Amino acid sequence: MTQSTQLPANHAPPDTALRSRASNHGPTADFIIVLSLLVIGVLGALTLGPVGLIAAVPAGLLLRRWSTDSGPMCRDHGHTALVDRARIFSWEIDSRTGRIVTMSGNVAEVLGYEPSELEGADAATIIDIDEARAVLREEARLGADAERRSIVTARHKEGHDVTLREVRLTPRREGLVRGVSVDIGEFADALRFQAEHDELTGLASRSIVEQTVVESLDAADDRQVALIVADLDRFKGINDTLGHPTGDRLLRVLAERLRASIDTIDVMARIGGDEFAFVAIGDLTVDSANSLAEEVHGLLTSPVAVDGLQLAVGASIGVAVSPGHGTTYAELLKCADIASYQAKHSGGGVAVFEASEGEASVTRQELICDTVRALDVGEFELHFQPQVDVRDGRIVGAEGLVRWRHPRHGLLAPADFFTAIEVGGHYHRLTDVMLRQAVEFGARMLEHGHRIPVAVNLGSMSFLDRRLPDTVGELLARHGLPGSLLTMEVTESDILDEKGRDAPVFEHLGALGVRLSIDDFGTGYSNFTRLRSLDADEVKVDRAFVQGLGRTSEDAIIVRATIQLAQLLGLDVVAEGVETEEQLRELQSLGCTTAQGFYWSTAVHPDAFLDLLASNATARAAG
Ligand code: C2E
Ligand code: CA
Ligand code: CA
Repeated sequence: MTQSTQLPANHAPPDTALRSRASNHGPTADFIIVLSLLVIGVLGALTLGPVGLIAAVPAGLLLRRWSTDSGPMCRDHGHTALVDRARIFSWEIDSRTGRIVTMSGNVAEVLGYEPSELEGADAATIIDIDEARAVLREEARLGADAERRSIVTARHKEGHDVTLREVRLTPRREGLVRGVSVDIGEFADALRFQAEHDELTGLASRSIVEQTVVESLDAADDRQVALIVADLDRFKGINDTLGHPTGDRLLRVLAERLRASIDTIDVMARIGGDEFAFVAIGDLTVDSANSLAEEVHGLLTSPVAVDGLQLAVGASIGVAVSPGHGTTYAELLKCADIASYQAKHSGGGVAVFEASEGEASVTRQELICDTVRALDVGEFELHFQPQVDVRDGRIVGAEGLVRWRHPRHGLLAPADFFTAIEVGGHYHRLTDVMLRQAVEFGARMLEHGHRIPVAVNLGSMSFLDRRLPDTVGELLARHGLPGSLLTMEVTESDILDEKGRDAPVFEHLGALGVRLSIDDFGTGYSNFTRLRSLDADEVKVDRAFVQGLGRTSEDAIIVRATIQLAQLLGLDVVAEGVETEEQLRELQSLGCTTAQGFYWSTAVHPDAFLDLLASNATARAAG
């Protein structure tokens, strides 16, 4: 088990430009790190009791290191003043009713309200609801690709504005929005600037592209919006052979050239390592947008003198124009992406989106009516995502994620149908099916000689189900699976929910030897002491934090603090949603040992998972 091998990476290599940015913290970045450390430290001290105080110690050590590294900028600011302002809270909002579902206790310090005053209240009490809706609409449509962080303005009970940095977490069910907000006080402007600009090229960031498109689509005029996305070809080769500094210089020259040459484009942005996006608003046609894109193509692909070399890259460009190709940001982006993909496959150049067969849209009503039939015929299946030891690529776990193999709509993810399940009152029935499939799969892995735990997700409703421990016990016995090879993933907020929580359920599960994992750890700070009393085995860091690794220093701080807290409590840590090598490297340097994410694999059918396990083992034997 000690020989090392890597589960083949599933994804493109890291975004090099971003990596170089991450390692060169400017004064602002360092400052944010200090701020974030204090957030964690203060949080610890305020909400975690004795454990928090211990956690604040490493934060304090780090703080010293950073302040020496980063020069006078940090020392000039009184730490005490920072401590006073650093505040964080977590929340859940029902996006359909606009009501606040849960609020963590710390909100009182930030917004002046007690959680009980806000729970059940209209979210408009504290935020601009129209603005929030617009963000959520787009996020829902973008799904996995959504940028889940933004800077928002909230209203304090006493009437003044409070600027918050918000990180939204994986939606647990349709219509529920969850997140964590940090009060960033007077650093708002610096952070906002950072969020709106690409540090390397000075072009706009993705969030500005989105904001501009959303605003101009919302404006009731008859101007069109063209969204042009450009993906450089052969850029990776330049980075690999000539080094990242050269790659960075090339990007800067290209950005400068674009800025100097085109004035008919409203927003020019770098949205990824070698990806650019352009927004033009006005009296546009598909043809005029196409010419604009051709112009961009010419500028991106003509040779550039960098470090005494003549370098040239190719570019694949996709164009989408409203309203023909979409009337929302998500639709336009999707169409432009598809077009750029088409362009890439025909050897580069410019492609305008062409609609293929219209996709069937899933209506909620239809799904609600369909769930009984689907349960009867067994259309729900658990797929498994590997959990990997980041040190050697070994598969060390499997998380079961439910999918609905719908006869007309294909494979549906939980966010598409969980409401239908809940509305239809089929939650327990579905959970039973998932539990059975998880235990069966755990036993099947064991038969194939793979002794790794299988995890299943449980919602808060499961804890009201007094039959649960018996059901689990019978399943384990029937399939001969030791309890220690079954993990129950529950979220912090579900566990800590005072209302209706049935603690004996946990005790009984514990008696079976079943592992308990806290999903989305770090988002429900309010009740850490109780969390300790639950005797968990593992915590999972939400992907919203992992996604920011290498990009925003705050997320690294949150992940690091989570790992440290978990280690103090003797818990395993699993980082979720790893997509890039850069994130992986940062996790390794933060001391995280286990992770999962698209970087290695999505959730796959059980048969495919066994194949993954087999090749993982073969590679290990060979390596
Ligand atoms: P979760 O437990 O936090 O699951 C992680 C989600 O992140 C999964 O989405 C997974 O496919 C996705 N994911 C994993 N790696 C990556 C990555 O690298 N990048 C990105 N962008 N996403 C990644 P999924 O399958 O749609 O599940 C969403 C949520 O639905 C889950 O969040 C879980 O809370 C719930 N869920 C899934 N299966 C079940 C189930 O059988 N029972 C219950 N009660 N809830 C479930
Ligand atoms: Ca989970
Ligand atoms: Ca999670």
